[in-house]
Amino acid sequence: MRHSLIAGNWKMNASLAANEAWIKGFVQASKTQGIEFEGGPQIMLCVPAPYWLQMSELIRKSSLPIVVGAQNVNEHDKGAFTGEVSVPMMAEMNLRSVILGHSERRQWFGETDELISQKVVKVLSSNLTPIVCVGESLSDREGLKTFEVIKHQVDALLSKIEPSDLERLVVAYEPIWAIGTGLTATPEQAQEVHAFIRQELLAKGPLGYKTRILYGGSMNPSNARALLSMTDIDGGLIGGASLVPEDFLKIVSSAIA
Ligand code: PEP
Repeated sequence: MRHSLIAGNWKMNASLAANEAWIKGFVQASKTQGIEFEGGPQIMLCVPAPYWLQMSELIRKSSLPIVVGAQNVNEHDKGAFTGEVSVPMMAEMNLRSVILGHSERRQWFGETDELISQKVVKVLSSNLTPIVCVGESLSDREGLKTFEVIKHQVDALLSKIEPSDLERLVVAYEPIWAIGTGLTATPEQAQEVHAFIRQELLAKGPLGYKTRILYGGSMNPSNARALLSMTDIDGGLIGGASLVPEDFLKIVSSAIA
């Protein structure tokens, strides 16, 4: 049984005041919606680095079962890499996880499968969990290249890790055409790709059965339950809707059986 994970990706959206309001809103909504977190999914918020400590402190004070994660990391531990942040720094700040290879990083920052794999290996050498994003573009899908593209991205990653790492690895299937567009893969379309990723993971080793595969791409309170009910969809990576505490909570509650 895989423990489902609902992770918010705030991207470059946050401020001290907005974060405080988010936590208040989430606490209030969980009272109004009567949500019992016990036995529910693991909940994570991947927030911009300047707010890690503030968010950890706000979460601690409100006793919410939420962990804080990052959105990217450098592949080195320390050194002359101006503007970068390392895994040991994240570990010292008690972060639990980091998103790697998000399509925005691939597109705007030129991240390659090779670089992303180096980051994954570095993260796996710590106690943090890597959430590795893969996904095809609209032209890939229209050109019937979805499985070829996904296979390339997943195999590049799997070639660099050990079969024993599969248990800790999290993969996020995020079709690029669905990110921030309001277009969502249907539950069947998503499941088809998740099942394919599962096969690739199992070809690496039997622990691939334990790898969590999240869906990301315009997940919202209306489509979450149907997506999360699919066999190989073990949770969600949520951008826009994670900025609205009431919506994020509704997605969390969709993952509660
Ligand atoms: C994301 O950026 O990881 C994402 C899934 O965004 P959205 O939910 O806004 O499509």
